[in-house]
Amino acid sequence: MENIFLKIINREIPAHIIYEDDLVIAFLDIMPVNKGHTLVVPKKHFVNILDGDPDILAHMMKISQKIAQAQVKELGADGFNLIVNNGVAGGQEVMHSHFHVVPRFAGDNSYQKPSHVECNKEEFEEIKEKLAGVMS
Ligand code: AMP
Repeated sequence: MENIFLKIINREIPAHIIYEDDLVIAFLDIMPVNKGHTLVVPKKHFVNILDGDPDILAHMMKISQKIAQAQVKELGADGFNLIVNNGVAGGQEVMHSHFHVVPRFAGDNSYQKPSHVECNKEEFEEIKEKLAGVMS
């Protein structure tokens, strides 16, 4: 399958690149949720957080922080959303890992918080047992 982000990394197609080092590249999203919406992308291919190298993911987080700080300082952002869509069910469309750093401006009303589901006491307990049981 065509990997559009590898093409950007390899300079086969253009992008508005704002940062690059040995491990990651960061460029403006072509369909921004807000002006300044940036993607932080690993140079090594992995699909998403599920199969990613934890050290590279940690570096992506570090660079996301720097980008968010730049959005506040240079674009006047009042806050930001760090969004990571994982898997088709999680809304991921490009199957090469990426973090979205989306600047937010007071009252912009752009990115809505997700809806909620009902979860009863037994379900909370059962889920907690399942997840906590494999964490150590
Ligand atoms: P996701 O739904 O999390 O997989 O997000 C993929 C993102 O990649 C979308 O926000 C797209 O707008 C963005 N995108 C796709 N192609 C390009 C491109 N050539 N340059 C910059 N951003 C892109």
